[in-house]
Amino acid sequence: MMIAFCNLKSQYDKYKFEIDDKIQNLLNNTNYIGGQEVKELENNLANYVNVKYAYACSNGTSALFLALKALGIKEGDEIITTPFTFIASSEMIALIGAKPVFVDISDIDYNLDINEIESKITSKTKAILAVSIFGQMPNLIKLKEICKKYNIYLIEDAAQSFGAKDDFNNVSCSIADISTTSFFPSKPLGCYGDGGAIFTNDENLANTINLLINHGSKERYLHEIIGLNARLDTIQAGILNVKFKYFDKEIEQRNKIAKIYTDNLNNCIVPKVKDGYKSVWAQYSIRVENRQEVIKKLQKNNIPTAIHYPTPLHLQPCFRYLGYNEKDFPIAKVVSDEILSLPFSAFLNYEDQSKIIEIFNKGE
Ligand SMILES: *Cc1c(COP(=O)(O)O)cnc(C)c1O
Repeated sequence: MMIAFCNLKSQYDKYKFEIDDKIQNLLNNTNYIGGQEVKELENNLANYVNVKYAYACSNGTSALFLALKALGIKEGDEIITTPFTFIASSEMIALIGAKPVFVDISDIDYNLDINEIESKITSKTKAILAVSIFGQMPNLIKLKEICKKYNIYLIEDAAQSFGAKDDFNNVSCSIADISTTSFFPSKPLGCYGDGGAIFTNDENLANTINLLINHGSKERYLHEIIGLNARLDTIQAGILNVKFKYFDKEIEQRNKIAKIYTDNLNNCIVPKVKDGYKSVWAQYSIRVENRQEVIKKLQKNNIPTAIHYPTPLHLQPCFRYLGYNEKDFPIAKVVSDEILSLPFSAFLNYEDQSKIIEIFNKGE
């Protein structure tokens, strides 16, 4: 039997009783949009991250859109960001009419290379959008200092890093002017459908975000600004409220399992976590030069793999108009060519992981 890449079934089985009960109650109450369950989630989120305002929303992509919109990013603005991420990070910049300006990534944590940023700042630069890739934050405190110096905003796309910490124990989603996350099922904290959230300490931004999520309206049928429907379903909020209770335990488990991989895998570049930082391991991604052979060998032994991400954003067809080429951002390019994610979740069991390590380390 194929080993699960991300074992969502074992997770559901573990919390099944509470989750089924929660969903059944919400169905019986016919409480499907908004309400107490969403409020409770927003309180849980704000307390966990220790920010003043947290809003649940429809997914991590809409969260990014709302963040950029709330900051007033518009056509012609430039946003400095990473080419090594899921499409959504730069997709929303472009959808709003602004221009993603890429900088290369660090060879250590695969987040944007902080030393490359200042030379890219122009009079049109309005923000840095940092992505905390694979569950680890970049040095957001340093990024914030750069933003202050040039009077621009910092946005954290924390879709993969909810629960992560830096070397001063600052939690992901607590440092940037606005931070966003995703509750896509396979993310560190996932719901059973689409979901996301937005975080800020700024009251004005918070008000705008709150309005944007629900058609610019607080009072029914009175619309103060132009917004959209980017609400989170009540049932998803209920599921997240149950899973929240076990989240810290799951993070500990993820760290234990990651350490077993790191201590035992041979002949590859294992992921590095910066001193004092805590990753939530959205993925466990190694680097190998002979990626296709490794994928085949694992596949033959019922071990699935994934590539996060095979094509960096500066080489995506949809961004051809930006005029980048193969020689730009050499680190993003080599990491894209070599990266390989192994089966990973808080529920990867010891037997399966031992088999993965054994097969991985075995020569052909
Ligand atoms: C998953 C992800 C998103 C998008 O989240 P959705 O909830 O799927 O819309 C955005 N950015 C990054 C880095 C992601 O990994």
